[in-house]
Amino acid sequence: MKRTQQCPKCSGRRLWVVSPWRVPAEYAGGETAPLAFNVSAEGFLGMPKYNAVGALELWTCEACGYSEFWATGARELREDPSRGISLVDSTVKGAGPFR
Ligand SMILES: [Zn+2]
Repeated sequence: MKRTQQCPKCSGRRLWVVSPWRVPAEYAGGETAPLAFNVSAEGFLGMPKYNAVGALELWTCEACGYSEFWATGARELREDPSRGISLVDSTVKGAGPFR
């Protein structure tokens, strides 16, 4: 949708872009939603410290509501499956379900 400037579901051409996308809040303007948080060095009292990585851009079709998120900062992510952050990398030969 971002590249074609057209909705892939209904062919609509009126698309709203919200960038950066923010978590809506009633009174404040909302907080920018990062792509994820990386755990960095230990901070105060040995608690892990989290650094926000990237941002999200929302594309929404005015006619049908179909929406897509586009992210910046993905190359800064660090894999951490215990926190739900995993990389599916099929660029490695022999990897993936089709052999
Ligand atoms: Zn649409």
